[in-house]
Amino acid sequence: MSKLIVSGRTLWPDGMIKDATVVVEQGVIAQVLPGASPKADVVVSGYIAPGFVELQLNGAYGADFSNDGRSVASVAARLPETGVTSFLPTIITSPWDAYPSRLREVREASQNLTGAHVLGVHLEGPYLNPAKKGAHNPAFLRTPNVDEVLRWVDDSVRLVTLAPELPGALDAIKALRARGIVVSAGHSNATFGQAMAGLAAGIGWGTHLFNAMSALEHRQSGLPGALLTSPVPCGMIVDGIHTHSSIVKLAYRAKGAAGLTLVTDAMEAMGMPAGRYKLSDREVIVDATSARLADGTLAGSILTLDQAVRNVVEFTGCSLAEALTMATATPARVLNLERKGRIAPGCDADLVVLDESLHVTQTFVKGNLAFASRDA
Ligand SMILES: [Zn+2]
Repeated sequence: MSKLIVSGRTLWPDGMIKDATVVVEQGVIAQVLPGASPKADVVVSGYIAPGFVELQLNGAYGADFSNDGRSVASVAARLPETGVTSFLPTIITSPWDAYPSRLREVREASQNLTGAHVLGVHLEGPYLNPAKKGAHNPAFLRTPNVDEVLRWVDDSVRLVTLAPELPGALDAIKALRARGIVVSAGHSNATFGQAMAGLAAGIGWGTHLFNAMSALEHRQSGLPGALLTSPVPCGMIVDGIHTHSSIVKLAYRAKGAAGLTLVTDAMEAMGMPAGRYKLSDREVIVDATSARLADGTLAGSILTLDQAVRNVVEFTGCSLAEALTMATATPARVLNLERKGRIAPGCDADLVVLDESLHVTQTFVKGNLAFASRDA
């Protein structure tokens, strides 16, 4: 479609929801005019949001990226159902020899996608603290050194999660930053001081705040204390399982919508029935609400990003505009994406239409309809 006009209550770049008429030409937002137009191609009774930007997705719909990088294609085709229009496929700690083929598979499969856009790869591990391994296989964890780290990444890597307290981590953070890769602190047992050193070295995000990290204690505030009081945004898995709703509220009050990014950390059972699944080489048991190893350790989630938006409104009492910002402008800013996460002239025409109950009814990726619910 070369030209498309969508009109209704819209999240503006200033963080307000107001009537707008969004004019799309050749997949790009050409104009955003104040006021609604009843003659638009799509007249929205609910809300128009920028497409959701997902920074941490291990897999979904029966596919696991750590086992098969090519499966990003089938997942990308379905993610618009959840409002996601761009994402970072996430590869968790894997055998060292597996990385080149996984990265190549993702890169090749990303060339010709329908649906959501692949922004690059998030490598979560292997430079993690064994004490905070979560569901990662400790046999594959490593200690960073700059030469090895620079051989490990390629141009498709956009984000790396590592533990800043590991020997050699600060040099690795600086080297990755110099390559234009965002580095996140996670699966970490860092003290407050070690975390602050990591932030000073260039850490730009926090991976699933509170999960798999040192605890927030009043005399030893650890990595959460450093992240909560720094300007660096943090991801949170707002599924009501990974953290208590009061902790989500605490994080929201400390960080605001510009400091929190909603992530799902979903694994292959997202969008699938309960049962037995895999996350990398780990066996995962999935029930109606969670995904766990046999010992009860959480192993990713089955959350969808639209559900996370609804949950964060419920848990924190934040405004809808703030909740949407946590799924759009804030994650786009983490990756320095100028054309994503906002409805503004020059941005990609990635748009999500939500009904009054915040369920996705239509999703557009670069101006093309990528999903429409039966009631749309
Ligand atoms: Zn993790």
